Amino acid sequence: MERIDVGVLGATGMVGTRLVRMLEGHPWFRLAEVGASDRSRGEALGRLVADDDGGPLWDEAAKMVVKSVDDEYTSPILLSALPTGVAKDLEPKLAKAGHLVVSNASSHRQDPNVPLIIPEINPDHISLARKQIGKQGGAIITNPNCVVAGIAMVFHPLHEAFGLEQVVVTTFQAISGAGKPGPASFDMIDNVLPFIAGEEDKIGNEVRKILGKVTERGFDNPNIRLSATCARVPVLHGHFASVSLAFRKQPHVDEVKSVLNGFRGNVIQDGLPCAPARPIEVMEAENRPQPRLDRDRGDGMTVTVGRIRPCEVHHVKMFVLSHNLVRGAAGAAMLNAELCHARGLTARPAATAQR
Ligand code: NAP
Repeated sequence: MERIDVGVLGATGMVGTRLVRMLEGHPWFRLAEVGASDRSRGEALGRLVADDDGGPLWDEAAKMVVKSVDDEYTSPILLSALPTGVAKDLEPKLAKAGHLVVSNASSHRQDPNVPLIIPEINPDHISLARKQIGKQGGAIITNPNCVVAGIAMVFHPLHEAFGLEQVVVTTFQAISGAGKPGPASFDMIDNVLPFIAGEEDKIGNEVRKILGKVTERGFDNPNIRLSATCARVPVLHGHFASVSLAFRKQPHVDEVKSVLNGFRGNVIQDGLPCAPARPIEVMEAENRPQPRLDRDRGDGMTVTVGRIRPCEVHHVKMFVLSHNLVRGAAGAAMLNAELCHARGLTARPAATAQR
């Protein structure tokens, strides 16, 4: 198969670097261009990206000269890891110029014309991207907030089986979730920060949109009540969440485990290269999952669940862990781009940006 060109915007950041790494040897996509702020323009990507836990960047990517995001882009697919404020104005312009913009930013997630997709859950929401392409040539497609990427994966099969009605979620979020340079070490070591700006409000709305149905009249979202409390903890990668759930029909703990263990998602037939064999893994040991030990399961794409037990207030409670930079960001965007490609949204000649 001839590989399709993709560009990475925000390539020097936490998420962008992961995207660049995931594109090494990708069977469908070829990294063709990288962009960041004017500060980085003209520099070789390898010089700007310090070796992180992935080691040095692969050769071809390291030699790429970084463009400004205001330069011209020719790749049909642009994977965006830009800050929300930049993405807000720029991504619609790029979509109008004919690109498929696959975005990590929250700026357009709640736009009723923009799909918010986790491929294993709601791949059919891609119809909204088709509509955008019909109207303007390109489209924006988004992946969820890094906490939602993990918990929605768990909520979806349980909602299908038992009808989810109420959620109380408390998060323990990793430092890399804050992007570069992240919180000061003086704030983070020996400490927990009990506030993450803008985070708690996003969670309920994003869960409801992902679990909702796209109808002729717009979204039909489930009436799930959700209360979120978010904290930053001194963990490098991996967002951890304690969730307590109430259902229309009270399930036994064993039924919950069986539903989660059996879940494979709605995209198995698409053969997406970044899709893990198991989107959810239930761990039985009472001291698992743990961020350091379990965040990389399924190359960071598997969500791990543990300590599933009866809840004294709701019906069941458990811990959910997902890698914020992979399942919660770069891997999520890659999977969305692969979904679009597999379902024919990118089978067009390369766009030439006219902005
Ligand atoms: P980051 O580490 O701060 O990286 C930001 C990137 O955007 C860098 O490449 C930076 O380039 C570029 N940039 C900054 N200001 C710019 C400007 N004015 N114009 C053009 N480019 C600019 O952030 P991140 O953590 O990777 O997050 C990227 C996006 O993904 C954000 O929208 C974030 O909310 C979202 N997200 C992050 C996570 C996570 O776990 N970190 C998870 C889900 C979603 P320079 O190096 O040139 O400054």
